[in-house]
Amino acid sequence: MEDCLFCKIVAGQIPATIIYQDADVVAFEDINPQAPRHVLVIPRRHIPSMTDITSEDGPVLASIYMAATKIARELGIAESGFRFLTNVGPDAGQSVFHLHFHLLGGRRLGWPPG
Ligand code: AMP
Ligand code: ZN
Repeated sequence: MEDCLFCKIVAGQIPATIIYQDADVVAFEDINPQAPRHVLVIPRRHIPSMTDITSEDGPVLASIYMAATKIARELGIAESGFRFLTNVGPDAGQSVFHLHFHLLGGRRLGWPPG
């Protein structure tokens, strides 16, 4: 999609530190990390937000979750623990409208989140 920051990262038009990619999924370092390990896992295809997901996206979502587990293992945080979440809408502070999941780990994560 034109004028979507994360579509541009997928297309290689904007630089990012990509740490994983496959046919459906791209993962890269968050530019403003909130934990020692902070990776964004996104579908290649432009889906604006969680509320736009349809049943057709099921295989892509499975790929996203499996990619996150693979990345967590490679980063060495699968055993210590991590959080995997997507912010939806204004109250959650969603700022980029291309579906993305935050993979956060490497420190004790507070609960409830702020
Ligand atoms: P959210 O606030 O949940 O929509 O998350 C958007 C995330 O994208 C934030 O954590 C930003 O730090 C991150 N971000 C914004 N621009 C870039 C970029 N060019 N490369 C990597 N991460 C980015
Ligand atoms: Zn996009």
